[in-house]
Amino acid sequence: MKEKNDNKERSKSIFGELEKYGVLGVIERMTAEEVIGITEKYSAHNYAPLPVVVDRGEGARVWDKEGKEYIDLIGCYSAVSHGHRNKRIIEVAMKQMDKLLNTGRPVYNSEMALLMKVLCEYTKMDMALPMNTGAEAVETALKAARRWGYGIKKVPKDKAEIIAVEGNFHGRTITIVGFSTEEAYRNDFGPFTPGFKIIPYNNIDALEKAINDNVVAFIIEPIQAEGGVIIPDKGYLAEVRRICDKHNILLILDEIQTGFARTGKDFAHQWEGIKPDLMTLGKALGGGLVPISAVVGREEVMKVFDPGSHGSTFGGNPFASCIAVEAIMETIRENLAEKALKAGEKFITAIKSFNSPYVKEVRGKGLLIGVEFKLEAGTGHDFADKLLKLGIITKDTHKQTIRITPPLTITDEEISIAIDKLRMVLTK
Ligand SMILES: *Cc1c(COP(=O)(O)O)cnc(C)c1O
Repeated sequence: MKEKNDNKERSKSIFGELEKYGVLGVIERMTAEEVIGITEKYSAHNYAPLPVVVDRGEGARVWDKEGKEYIDLIGCYSAVSHGHRNKRIIEVAMKQMDKLLNTGRPVYNSEMALLMKVLCEYTKMDMALPMNTGAEAVETALKAARRWGYGIKKVPKDKAEIIAVEGNFHGRTITIVGFSTEEAYRNDFGPFTPGFKIIPYNNIDALEKAINDNVVAFIIEPIQAEGGVIIPDKGYLAEVRRICDKHNILLILDEIQTGFARTGKDFAHQWEGIKPDLMTLGKALGGGLVPISAVVGREEVMKVFDPGSHGSTFGGNPFASCIAVEAIMETIRENLAEKALKAGEKFITAIKSFNSPYVKEVRGKGLLIGVEFKLEAGTGHDFADKLLKLGIITKDTHKQTIRITPPLTITDEEISIAIDKLRMVLTK
């Protein structure tokens, strides 16, 4: 009796609707207004999205519920580097879906094995460890560095220190936000993990001064993306490498956003001709389809993990793994590094040529570009809103800056359209 009543109640509710129209049917029937209303009511407000409901995507274009077309200049914060619904990546995903998706790690699977080999050869590193999100990859690298510190460098137990920099972004776990300098990321999330030290970015003297016998690693983004596209001086990373070598400190490069051709090289550190000891990867590694991340590194460091010391239920699952392999292949096959470099130059040259009274500075490498606005001109959010009305999706970061990080597959025609719209907003 009771069960029957429950079923009756349910048929009037969302479950009844789902029963009647199916998941995709219900989604199709939702209006943009409903989507925004439901999100605001039921989802925690940890983001402030632009007022657009994206419903379909292809390449560098997306469409909203009413069919209005947009050029996607944010590309999921550079996670959709291969374009929305990349054909070859989807083909691999579809075929794999018919075979095997998840095993966990109590057994071996071929897809993960292949990914580990491909990742190591592509990054020229010795060993890899698969995870799911960027933050997890960073946590994994920090754990590896500490273990290496105790086991190999022989730092006294629980005394290991890791140096990070001002303006960093490495993810959102309590440990990671504990060494962020962004108040919004940290406020009321303490107490934080000890053992981290902050120094200014792009400052070699500060690094030398911060080093003592207990320092095991220095973690840094080759370009600070989230921090507003901050590019350090030429030679900085090479100096950092030299100092880390001199003091037997691991250099951890977070290339989650700068990796996979984004800056015009496979990895941003190649601009300085150096190699990290550990590197974190994520975002575009998932081909715009799945969350997958990884740490790659030197054998001496990666070998500190033994069975039981670390893990992840979904890390290295066959589905995500074979998608990641194809994502890397697409990066190579389509020469995305060269495309990013050329497209980036077009954007930067054009924006500079506007001589916009609103723009304070344009910074970028490849298709990782930041446009910073003068304080009196309005915020990045104001400009993102104006661009949205003209069919361009961007996002503000650090109040005064908008980021331009479209899919690296963006076509010349799409670039021209985007530049025209940018001109309209920046010179009006
Ligand atoms: C996005 C990002 C992260 C965090 O990745 P998530 O997948 O969001 O956890 C870490 N580091 C950098 C440099 C990033 O851009």
